[in-house]
Amino acid sequence: MKSSLQNKLLYSFIGVVILVLLCVSVGMSFLIRNYFYTSKQKELIAKGHELARVVNEYNSGNINDNQFTEFINSVDSFLDARVWVLDNSSQLLAVSTPRRGTGVGQRTHQGMGRKMFGARHNVISGFEEVFSGKVMTKTFFHPDYEEKMLTAAVPVISGEGKIGGAVILHAPVSGINDFLQIIYYYIAATGTIAIFLTIVLAMWLSKSIVKPVLSMQKAASAMAGGDYLTRVQVTSNDEIGQLGHSLNELAADLHIFIEKQEVLEKMRRDFVANVSHELRTPLTIIRGYNEALADGTIEAADMKEKYHNLIREEIMRLERLIKDLLDLSKLQSGAGNIQMEEIPLNNIVESIGAKIKQKAESKNINLILELTSVPKIQGSGDRITQLVLILADNAVKYTFNGGTVNLKTYCSDDKVVLEITDSGIGIPQEELPFIWERFYKVDKSHAKTTEGTGLGLAIAKEIIDLHKAEVEVDSKFGVGTTFKVKFAVPEK
Ligand code: ADP
Repeated sequence: MKSSLQNKLLYSFIGVVILVLLCVSVGMSFLIRNYFYTSKQKELIAKGHELARVVNEYNSGNINDNQFTEFINSVDSFLDARVWVLDNSSQLLAVSTPRRGTGVGQRTHQGMGRKMFGARHNVISGFEEVFSGKVMTKTFFHPDYEEKMLTAAVPVISGEGKIGGAVILHAPVSGINDFLQIIYYYIAATGTIAIFLTIVLAMWLSKSIVKPVLSMQKAASAMAGGDYLTRVQVTSNDEIGQLGHSLNELAADLHIFIEKQEVLEKMRRDFVANVSHELRTPLTIIRGYNEALADGTIEAADMKEKYHNLIREEIMRLERLIKDLLDLSKLQSGAGNIQMEEIPLNNIVESIGAKIKQKAESKNINLILELTSVPKIQGSGDRITQLVLILADNAVKYTFNGGTVNLKTYCSDDKVVLEITDSGIGIPQEELPFIWERFYKVDKSHAKTTEGTGLGLAIAKEIIDLHKAEVEVDSKFGVGTTFKVKFAVPEK
């Protein structure tokens, strides 16, 4: 018994059982004693009345001495009660003899019994009232029989209504006590069995409570130590079992939470690494060109200009990168400072079309605008402009010379759709889920040749989410790509 919970259970169980047994035995003995006393008294009184009638018969000479003696003796043995018959001057007329020895009753006026019952007068003196016609009962220590007796005294009333004497019946209390003794033995035996059963039950119960609690405590400690894979063995359906279930759910939730945290942490680390890398590359190039110019390695004026231009390009690249990073962080830090208004999508697409026209023409790309009349959408004009520019610019960027780029607007399923299609290089199906990630570039080897920062689509996704819009990408590697952004129409 190591666990205190187990001890507590056991002791309280045994305590309750002992208390119940005590109450039951005290209550029962009281009730039984009471019941026996009253029923014995009733019986004695009833027999007393019968005897009184027989005494009357005897007094009127209808039955003889022998028959009378025989009768009181048989009442004695039948009731296990000593019978005294008194005449109207409270003198003993007859006393029964228990049928043990000779089995013969005694007639006192024949000279027998008086010696034996030396103290009888005292005893009889307590029953004076019976001679005034009253039935009496008493329980007392009888000095003649030297034991406790239950006594009933009944007056003998003759036919004319005169008191002709009295009958006193004495039943020894020891009989009842013997019976109570048996009951006490019985209670003691059941009590012992009950205590034994209690110990077994308490041990079984505490085992079924304490064991799972201990295993839950172990699991909780393991969780506190960072082990979220521990599970509690749930064997029951009760409250303990439910607690086990909850603990397991908690462990599972914590596991998911921690995994998410780790993923986020990894993303953060990757982002920092990516930013550092993206910043270092142009800086290294700038430093190299700058050193070449400074130490006089490059002398020719046209070469000098070429290097200056290369340096300017790298600086612009850095500027773009920093602008994109700032944009992204602004978008991620919350929508609170972004002004939402009703904006005409077609106007924005037209202006972006004009903006990329030159670039498309330089690549001999056929830029087609197919705008249908669409309702105004709810959003930030600047951000939607930025979104259309990113998507249209990518379409031109990733399309070969002589290809086509289509900018469309239309309504479908209560949504305003912006659709940008190109006949470009396409994106392999397995890469599609990642294109929205920061710094993700499908073609790593050519990543440097295009002027992209790898942040465009990440910014686009933030803007799409900010406007609660949906996006779909359809792409076939080598054939072309379609981006569809669907905006909800504001309710009027
Ligand atoms: P980048 O600045 O490199 O364009 P983006 O975030 O805009 O970065 O795009 C991520 C990557 O998704 C690009 O590097 C490119 O590989 C791919 N991509 C985006 N748009 C297209 C497109 N229209 N056609 C083919 N590939 C595209």
